[in-house]
Amino acid sequence: MSAVQQIDQKTGDIAALLLAHYDVHARDLPWRKLPGQGLPDPYNVWLSEIMLQQTTVAAVGPYFRKFAQTWPDFAALGAADEADVMAAWAGLGYYARARNLLKCARVITSDYGGQLPDTEAKLLKLPGIGPYTAAAISAIAFDRRAVVVDANIERVVSRLYAIDTPLPAAKAEIWAATDAITPDVAAGDFAQAMMDLGAGICSVRNPSCMICPLLVHCAAGQAGMAEAYPLKPPKKAKPHRTGTAYWVQQGDAVWLVTRGGKGMLGGMRALPDDGWSARQDGDGVEPFEADWQILPRSVAHVFTHFTLSLDIAVTATVPADIELGEGGYWPLKSLDKAGLPTLFSKVAKAVMARGES
Ligand code: SF4
Repeated sequence: MSAVQQIDQKTGDIAALLLAHYDVHARDLPWRKLPGQGLPDPYNVWLSEIMLQQTTVAAVGPYFRKFAQTWPDFAALGAADEADVMAAWAGLGYYARARNLLKCARVITSDYGGQLPDTEAKLLKLPGIGPYTAAAISAIAFDRRAVVVDANIERVVSRLYAIDTPLPAAKAEIWAATDAITPDVAAGDFAQAMMDLGAGICSVRNPSCMICPLLVHCAAGQAGMAEAYPLKPPKKAKPHRTGTAYWVQQGDAVWLVTRGGKGMLGGMRALPDDGWSARQDGDGVEPFEADWQILPRSVAHVFTHFTLSLDIAVTATVPADIELGEGGYWPLKSLDKAGLPTLFSKVAKAVMARGES
């Protein structure tokens, strides 16, 4: 018998218990309206949900405030320069999100009169919005019934029903179990209450089952086996890539390029490099002949699908007849305003730290 078939009449209790707990313990987040305060601004919900894809609430907070202050609605964001949006996003990672954010704001402004559509089906047609985000926005911003399953909810539900199938195969079972316990009303509060439970009480390690409002209905909690769920497949090692970043300095400025739009870190300002990617090492070919000095320490970075070590080659001798291609010199003293992604900020720090710049 599957976990879903085991769901009994008590499933209604789960929503009631959780919503009662949420009334008292909801996290006060900048994009949220607390229970009883009405529905939140759909723009804020959309912005926060895009930022929260693969990123923690703690990391998103300052970025959300900065974006909401600088661009308070779809029209303002849609009119922004891509370079400004990419620079404001720098450090948050997964940069395709920022490009889609801007595209989406422009579509909402031009095709929807600046108003976010309220159904999952319409939301799904917008750039950067997949099934999870469409469900979350439709439930939270518009209080429509939708089945919302993020990583936190996945963990809570797999524990509630002690789902013995490992992820990702368990996803369909977890979705069906979440569907069965999602109430017809207050689906937005229910989703947020589940997210809060997963982020706090039902944590990955050391969940606090003894103070959990759902303990009475929780198979893993009752068995003292909470940490065993969700079951994970054996880990595959991430591939390791190597490459080189080139630091071309003239006086008090360094050469920065804008990376190609669709590739890794596309649209971001960056240092020139030798073409490394998730699939291949860099070719080590220097951008021009010069007296390159390789720094003794390389920079390490972990991406979702691979790890990278980047050597750093530095020169201050640029031949007069060299065309450096698209880009420009950026003053070292305001390099922190260039919006470099974390990887290239690490490279800049390593160069500065050598004490010769
Ligand atoms: S009882 Fe424990 S395992 Fe079950 S939902 Fe609550 S915190 Fe999570």
